[in-house]
Amino acid sequence: MSATFVGMPAFPVAAREALADSQLRRNLEHATHTIRAKRAAVVGEVDEWEELRLAGAAIKDNTLLHLDEYLLQLEESLQARGVTVHWARDAREACDVVARIAQTHGVDEIVKVKSMVTQEIGLNEALAAQGIVAWETDLAELIVQLGDDLPSHILVPAIHRNRAEIREIFRRRMAAAGRPAPENLSDEPAELAAAARLHLREKFLRAKMAVSGANFAVAESGTLVVVESEGNGRMCLTLPEVLVSVVGIEKVVPTFADLDVFLQLLPRSSTGERMNPYTSTWTGIAPGDGPQEMHVVLLDNGRTRALADDVGRQALRCIRCSACLNVCPVYERTGGHAYGSVYPGPIGAILNPLLKGVGVDEQTDSLPYASSLCGACFDACPVRIDIPEVLVHLRTKVVDAHREGPPKAEAVAMKSASWVLSDARRLGFAERGLGVASKVLDRVGRRVLPGGRRALGRLPWPGSLWTNARDVPAPPAESFRAWWRKGGRP
Ligand code: SF4
Repeated sequence: MSATFVGMPAFPVAAREALADSQLRRNLEHATHTIRAKRAAVVGEVDEWEELRLAGAAIKDNTLLHLDEYLLQLEESLQARGVTVHWARDAREACDVVARIAQTHGVDEIVKVKSMVTQEIGLNEALAAQGIVAWETDLAELIVQLGDDLPSHILVPAIHRNRAEIREIFRRRMAAAGRPAPENLSDEPAELAAAARLHLREKFLRAKMAVSGANFAVAESGTLVVVESEGNGRMCLTLPEVLVSVVGIEKVVPTFADLDVFLQLLPRSSTGERMNPYTSTWTGIAPGDGPQEMHVVLLDNGRTRALADDVGRQALRCIRCSACLNVCPVYERTGGHAYGSVYPGPIGAILNPLLKGVGVDEQTDSLPYASSLCGACFDACPVRIDIPEVLVHLRTKVVDAHREGPPKAEAVAMKSASWVLSDARRLGFAERGLGVASKVLDRVGRRVLPGGRRALGRLPWPGSLWTNARDVPAPPAESFRAWWRKGGRP
């Protein structure tokens, strides 16, 4: 099971491939529209939704402003309740900590609660290299793992699979990983869930160690919180003797009262429910009850880089609800794999470059352009992350990072436009030229767009790079100034 995002091509290349898969597009359209409608219905029930969004954003902003203090408070609270705290600068340090704990206990298999951050650091692969198997226990993650696949959505990692595909994965792959699927397994959701439940049950009962992430970490009490829908998380958090939680440093919230806001925002924005079926909170070790050894790994892995970015910092407010994915017209058509990361969609388009830095690799630099800037993500975001603003900011940084070497055609075009537009006489000449060009183009061919507007036809290369994908409004035969000089008469 070695699927990895490493080495994925840039977004335009990966998106073209995804767009050719009509089954994928059907699956995505059905799934995103269903979740989108559920979310809209439950959000509409809350009169003070906008106030909740503002409160969520304010709590996160305040926490990020004093992150150093809250993290130390969290560490102190955790240690006071018997939890060992580890600090990890990057993925490698975090994976090493988890592997070391497993080796200390002679463990060669662990169970996992669904966790974005452990996917971000490639924990399963790092553990496999040490001979330790990590079993995903979330149903969608199990489907991805058994299918030797990659997650394509934050909340529903197997959103690109339909029921028939899932049945095939279970029938072909379950036996190699433990209890096989029933002989006569159908593609009914209840039967698929029952097969997964039986398959996972023996893993829960056998596992000595579990690994989780955390949706929130409360600084004042040292409480960690995981919200989920299936109960598998509850099993992982209570049955094994050793529990290791890998937590991004932006997950800290100052007080228990702050959770109140997020536990209203998160379920409505993610699964379209009023509350999550399972909200697990744990505060250190309780003798004789649950895991008797607990570790928390506080992970940076680029978060302090994002924190230092005045505009991009707001991305650290993200509570991973996936509402922005479900409303994004680009995500709906390409799916998550095209983003080449465990964080796909609009939030992935900003979070990945913020965590990794721009100018480092082509794939990451392509992500801020994976958007039409329509703003649907901002409207849907429960913590008001202005994703379009950050996208534009990151595009500037990408351009700045590639200024060396011969200027690109786009840069030459922009410089020329700036030269023309900054002088009235030059602009006048250009307008007269456009008027002549317009008459010529009239002969070459124009198209009439819906609404009666006229557009240029297909231009020869390099203009075809633009006209193949976009409408170019036809220039008017007469400029405003020429019209004005004539006294404003036709
Ligand atoms: S950016 Fe906002 S909408 Fe998107 S996953 Fe994060 S919190 Fe949810």
